[in-house]
Amino acid sequence: MLPHSGHDYTLLIRRWKAVAERAGVELRLLNETGGYPVFVVENEQAAAREPGGIYLSAGVHGDECAPVWALLQWMESDPEILRRLPVVIFPCINPSGFVENTRRDHEGIDLNRCFENNAHHVIGSWQTFMEGRQFDLALNLHEDYDAGGIYLYELAREDSKGNELLSACEKIIPRETASTVDGSDFNNGLLTRSGDLERLVEEELGGGYPEAILLFLRYSRNSYTFETPSEFDLIRRIEAHQAFLEAATKPLMESA
Ligand SMILES: [Zn+2]
Repeated sequence: MLPHSGHDYTLLIRRWKAVAERAGVELRLLNETGGYPVFVVENEQAAAREPGGIYLSAGVHGDECAPVWALLQWMESDPEILRRLPVVIFPCINPSGFVENTRRDHEGIDLNRCFENNAHHVIGSWQTFMEGRQFDLALNLHEDYDAGGIYLYELAREDSKGNELLSACEKIIPRETASTVDGSDFNNGLLTRSGDLERLVEEELGGGYPEAILLFLRYSRNSYTFETPSEFDLIRRIEAHQAFLEAATKPLMESA
C-alpha cells in the first residue's frame, strides 16, 4: 500500500513541483480541465528544441494509477538522463479521470482515442506544445484490468528491443501469457509493429488515435506502450514501471 491515496492529484503535483525545482527543470501549465491544472515538464535541452531524447507520459487513463506514481518516483531518483538528453514528461494528462478513478475524462472522453483531435482543449494544447519536436523514444505507461501479466506494444523503426525490456521487468511481475490481448496477437507479452498504422486506427480503433501511434507517426522514432495488470499489488506495479523506465532509457544514455 501507498501511505496516501493512489488518486491524490494535489499531492502528486506538490511533489512534482518540488522535484522540478530540485532538478532545475520547468513544470509548465499546459491547460486546465474539469477544474484541474494539466502540467508538462521539460528540461533545458527540450525547451531549446534540441532533437532526440525522450518523451514520457502517464495518467492518460485515470483508473491506471501505478504509472503516474512510478514516473514521479523515477524523477525523484534524479535520473542522469535529465542532464544529458532532451526530456519531456506529461505526468498526468487526465487529472479529472485520475481523481475520479475513471478511464475517461470528466466529459466521458477517452483521451487515448483522440490524440489527433485538436478540437479537444487539452489535446489541442498538447499538439501546440508538440509542434516541431522530434524524439528518439516515447514511453507511454498504462495498466490493464483484464491482464494477467505485463505486456508491451512496440512501434519501432529499428531492431526490436521489446523482449529485453520485458525481461528487465518480469522478475517483478511475470509476462502476460495470453496470445491475444485486447483483440491483438501477442508473442510472450510482446507485439511489435512498424507500419499499416493508419489502417489499424481506422479499422480497429474507430478512427481515433492513441498517443503512442500519433507519437510514432509524427514525433518519435520509436514508441512503446507498457502495461501492468491493475489487479496486481500496487507497489509491485509501480516497481515494474520503474524497471521499465530504467531499462528503456539506458540504451539512450549509452549512445548519448
Ligand atoms: Zn490505459
